[in-house]
Amino acid sequence: MTFESLNVKTETIRALEEQNITKPTDIQKMTIPFALEGRDVVGISKTGSGKTLAFGIPILENTKHKEGLQVLILGPTRELAVQISNELKKVSKYCKKNFATIFGGVAINPQIDKLRIADIAVGTPGRILDHVERGTINLSKIKCVVLDEADKMVEMGFIEDVCKILNKMPRDRQVLLFGATVSDEIGRLKKNYTSNPEVIKGEVQVKEDFLEQYYYDISSSEKFSLLVHLLKKESAEKAIIFCSKRTTVEIVVKNLRKQGIETDMIHGKMQQNKRLKVIENFNKNGSEVLVASAVAARGLDIRDVTHVFNYDLPQDPQEYIHRVGRTARAGECGKAITLLTSDDHPIFTNIINRYGLDINVLPKESFPRLRFDARMNRPRRFGNGRFSKSRFKNKKRSNSDHRKRSKNF
Ligand code: ADP
Ligand code: MG
Repeated sequence: MTFESLNVKTETIRALEEQNITKPTDIQKMTIPFALEGRDVVGISKTGSGKTLAFGIPILENTKHKEGLQVLILGPTRELAVQISNELKKVSKYCKKNFATIFGGVAINPQIDKLRIADIAVGTPGRILDHVERGTINLSKIKCVVLDEADKMVEMGFIEDVCKILNKMPRDRQVLLFGATVSDEIGRLKKNYTSNPEVIKGEVQVKEDFLEQYYYDISSSEKFSLLVHLLKKESAEKAIIFCSKRTTVEIVVKNLRKQGIETDMIHGKMQQNKRLKVIENFNKNGSEVLVASAVAARGLDIRDVTHVFNYDLPQDPQEYIHRVGRTARAGECGKAITLLTSDDHPIFTNIINRYGLDINVLPKESFPRLRFDARMNRPRRFGNGRFSKSRFKNKKRSNSDHRKRSKNF
């Protein structure tokens, strides 16, 4: 299925293609037709499944430029509001729309100016309600309201603000309600604020109740010792240790093996079929510990994981969610532990705020300091100063090959 077959405008498709978005995701396929028709939609699917464009594309198609504020998108956090605005601005590159991004903690006057000319407003409930009460947002022409991450908004205590805002809008507006988990709260919002909605369920997110999340403050030089200590202490039945780089994966694996810990690894330099074999083996209980670079683990079916360790903190909030989502699947309990160095704190705070996560600090404890060999097993040097792995794989390289190569330098 393509965006064309979903009756998306050529201008939008062009902007999407420029971002390498060519095929709709499942939630987009199912949502776009109903939302374009003006139907209410309740869409539940896990983080990263493309919900923003599932509501964003139909909104852009149905909104006119300079005819007043027609769409209000509400989300739980400032970071999310900014992210939604940025994404929709990119997609509306060839069909211009005015956006106002509204959140608290910053001056209100520039927002008032933006709201006067906005076609679409994206914001957090608190500050939007503030504008409603000051009379600086005109909701009388609203045709569509989106509640994004509605489950989070309820959890974070914004429900009353959201309801007050909804009550100030025309009755016949369209409501698009999105979330990552099936919850009673979403059920209530659906009952009270949508009419005859189309309910769409993709793959849902694990409920955070089953997932315990922790972090531990540690210096880089002690990370490895702590990791080994935690692996033993937690008696992790099946653990994935995520590292940001392939080299870290290799170094951590080498050191774990020196400690007598049986472990396997996957990283981006491995062929896909080799990766699949490793996963198959891991799923069959071949080893209890898998060290992985996040990129390599994407899309692979890794089962029954009891513990996720972030040896390195991912830079991207969504990546954090993907990683910890590897455990606590199918109603099982799981634990995610992130090893944080002092440099990581700003990014970690951003991740917590972005998703309103509840991550507890682990108490300090004493653990034995282990030897950690931070060197890579480097391939030996060529005479001409270049590194080459293939030299060792292909011992039969002829002399003429050597000559040909040397000429190039
Ligand atoms: P969700 O809201 O479900 O957590 P997002 O809407 O934030 O997910 O999308 C996650 C990522 O996927 C974003 O980086 C987005 O640009 C990308 N994305 C969305 N739709 C598509 C698509 N059809 N094809 C490829 N990438 C997509
Ligand atoms: Mg989203």
